[in-house]
Amino acid sequence: MSSLLIKNGFVVTLNDNNDMLENASVYIEDDKIAEVGQIPEGKYNPDRVIDAGGNIVMPGLINAHHHLYSTFARGFSPPGEPARNFKEILERLWWKLDLALDADDVYYSALMAVMHAARAGCTTIIDHHASPSCSEGSLDLIEKAFREVGLNGCLCYEVSDRNEKGEGIAENERFIKKCKASNDDQITALFGLHALMTLSTPTLDKCSDIAHTLGAGFHVHVAEAEVDVQVTFERYQRRIMDRFLDFGIPSPQTIFVHGIHFEAREMDLLKTTDSILVNNPESNMNNGLSVTPILEMLSRGVLVGIGTDGMSSHMISQARAMYLLQRTYRRDPRVAFAEAAEILLKNNRTICDRLFTEPRGALAPGYLADVIIPEYVPFTPLNPNTFYGHLLFGLSFARVGTTVARGNVIVENGHMVGIDEEAIRAKSVERAQKLWSKIH
Ligand SMILES: [Zn+2]
Repeated sequence: MSSLLIKNGFVVTLNDNNDMLENASVYIEDDKIAEVGQIPEGKYNPDRVIDAGGNIVMPGLINAHHHLYSTFARGFSPPGEPARNFKEILERLWWKLDLALDADDVYYSALMAVMHAARAGCTTIIDHHASPSCSEGSLDLIEKAFREVGLNGCLCYEVSDRNEKGEGIAENERFIKKCKASNDDQITALFGLHALMTLSTPTLDKCSDIAHTLGAGFHVHVAEAEVDVQVTFERYQRRIMDRFLDFGIPSPQTIFVHGIHFEAREMDLLKTTDSILVNNPESNMNNGLSVTPILEMLSRGVLVGIGTDGMSSHMISQARAMYLLQRTYRRDPRVAFAEAAEILLKNNRTICDRLFTEPRGALAPGYLADVIIPEYVPFTPLNPNTFYGHLLFGLSFARVGTTVARGNVIVENGHMVGIDEEAIRAKSVERAQKLWSKIH
């Protein structure tokens, strides 16, 4: 058994009582939290002690929608005229980039992004992957990156008919079976789908049959732009949620991403099927799209989570973007502040409770030992009434000095432990250059 004591922290537990404890400690045994609070000196004889120096100690963050494969898009400009709309963004950038990825690109792009996440204090990532030229085994390469860094992941492959009918079905099936058989909660799986606008009826039938047989939920983009709604209606005379219902896709383990162009009735269907909706505000703004009506969804009791959609691995700044966008959209300075913080800290945790066995997202005995120490000592009173202010105005800009994932110290003094970051960075530059040269 290994043990670790984090002492002298301002411990934000996010436990059932929302305890915030100054000069407190977190004691970890193996990959679980054993005790939190004022632990007397000498009570334990840990293998290792970390002095938090009065900084905040809090649970590792969760990203509920990411695209690790988008890492090498940084700085890349697709050839030709700039995309004028969402469909052109997909056609000119993402569908060219994902088609050009080879196995090494998949691995190194995942590795870079997972390391970034670890350094940003994110310890669980729900990823959505596409690499049509090397789909078979691609999720194993991403899993390898997660295990090398030490983070938790829920992976899937996005099935789409855009290149080849049913592309990606076999990879989802294989990987879901592998995860179910392994009985290892560090990496789990969902059945990935791109979006209704690139999925035919035979493909959806097949995906639905396999996922239901395996007992897996889905992870799919929905109503991100009007084009998804229009194409679905023109081809099938169905609204988005109705068509998903036709295939039995909504469920408590299914993540619908975006949901910008939902009718009120479709929001109600999210609630009645107890499905998950994940909002990605920075991505929506970057693509010049509209705004997901998350406050309407919350008022209906929908479980709304937050992700970055490949824009970054920084979850607190994403929550900050969420409330700022909602306030701008509604022209109301009273709304969305607490909601954004709670979506990040509570709802993303609830989403993970549905996709993983081990509880996470709170510092309490029995919880997964995912703990971060941002370099942030509060200079105004910190308590449950003020914490969201510290979160969205202060912690959003704080460097994460230490990240502990599954009981292992994986980031120390802002750097990866036991990983040659410079060698990986150099390799990534090389891979990205080759990748870009393949895209015309
Ligand atoms: Zn996405």
